[in-house]
Amino acid sequence: LLDSTIATRQDKRIDQIPTSPNIITRDYVFDYLVVGAGFSGSVIAERLASQSGKKVLIVDKRNHIGGNAYDHYDEHGVLVHKYGPHIFHTNCREVFDYLSQFTQWRSYEHRVLASVDGQLVPIPINLDTINKLYGMNLNSFEVEEFFKSVAEPRDVIRTSEDVVISKVGQKLYEKFFRNYTRKQWGLDPSELDKSVIARIPTRTNRDDRYFTDSYQAMPLHGFTRMFEKMLNHPNIKVMLNTDYREIEKGIPCREMVYTGPVDEYFDYRFGQLPYRSLEFKHETHNTSVFQSAPVVNYPNDHLYTRITEFKYLTGQEHAKTSIVYEFPQAEGDPYYPIPRPENQEIYKKYRELAEATPKIHFVGRLATYKYLNMDQCIAQALAIYKQMSVKV
Ligand code: FAD
Ligand code: UDP
Repeated sequence: LLDSTIATRQDKRIDQIPTSPNIITRDYVFDYLVVGAGFSGSVIAERLASQSGKKVLIVDKRNHIGGNAYDHYDEHGVLVHKYGPHIFHTNCREVFDYLSQFTQWRSYEHRVLASVDGQLVPIPINLDTINKLYGMNLNSFEVEEFFKSVAEPRDVIRTSEDVVISKVGQKLYEKFFRNYTRKQWGLDPSELDKSVIARIPTRTNRDDRYFTDSYQAMPLHGFTRMFEKMLNHPNIKVMLNTDYREIEKGIPCREMVYTGPVDEYFDYRFGQLPYRSLEFKHETHNTSVFQSAPVVNYPNDHLYTRITEFKYLTGQEHAKTSIVYEFPQAEGDPYYPIPRPENQEIYKKYRELAEATPKIHFVGRLATYKYLNMDQCIAQALAIYKQMSVKV
């Protein structure tokens, strides 16, 4: 960054700039420019500032911090997640302890129902799902036998289709997974890496929690409040409504941490990496409860995939209730990297270029093109900070 900045200046104003070395050794106001104030950028900014004493400028082109985890009170006073439901869960104690410095917690275990064949049934598929769907009264052993009888074993599990068919067979695949996935990704499960649907387990017991991680909780006063605490440090300046490209020349920093889309950083040199986007339709209803679960999935009906009712997640009491519908689409803000081999091939080229680019660290869901949950982003950011701090 430093070299290219100086090179550009010299190109433009070569007659005015003396070649004296003090240009190169000038003091920097900031040691680090962090691009993106989501989890990845905020964690690194916080560590650099509080643990390494570095001066950090963090910029985001949006008008708020928090990235996709941003939450706020809507015009009716209900706390909502602007970019869809965000539920914190992790098995990593280090990540939980790290965040606990910036927030108190509200215990929360997420539950989801799927609307299938005119009924609302638990997803992940469990014993109750099967009994309710087929009007049966099986026990855990019997449902295991049932799954075995319908499963279609496959020699190699490569795609998301293989994952489901080999566990629960064609019929349940069609009812719960095929159409949801086609809607969500614009691709058939046979075209997606196995890791996508492998996020959803199949259970023979009655556990209806969406996640089974050892730590499951929501920040007591919301995500944004937690981000405010993380970034509230004398060594950190936050600049919103700013694309880093507007200021990188004017405010030179020693190094950069970049958490935006990696293909965009390199001007799409190897072509565009596909990301899946969403349109969020927020509504507030004049009733205290809208639906019978925090999230209801609609695999087979409607253009949206799911409806989230936020008060379940936040525990807020309010006479009204706010919900959000998610409509998947190809165009728009990049929300999901799309895990499939051909995209990985393109990403590999960007990764090699990123690794060969000095003084810039690529971090997070968009910059490393990985379908990461929040806790995985935090773990990745903490690990990258550790590598950086060895050198600083
Ligand atoms: P982001 O949050 O995307 O932050 C990147 C930031 O960089 C953005 O704010 C962007 O504006 C900024 N930026 C990009 N380019 C520039 C530029 N040129 N100049 C300045 N700023 C720039 N995870 C969970 O653990 N649990 C969940 O329940 C969950 N639900 C989710 C639901 C949805 C609908 C989505 C989309 C994701 C969900 N996630 C969930 C994943 C979670 O959102 C991510 O893991 C996490 O927020 C990624 O953080 P990040 O900092 O890497 O990226
Ligand atoms: N999925 C599905 N049916 C469901 C729930 C999930 O087919 O009822 C598939 C779908 O492909 C989805 C993936 O499993 O994208 C991962 O689901 P998850 O709820 O983890 O997605 P996210 O919350 O990240 O959007």
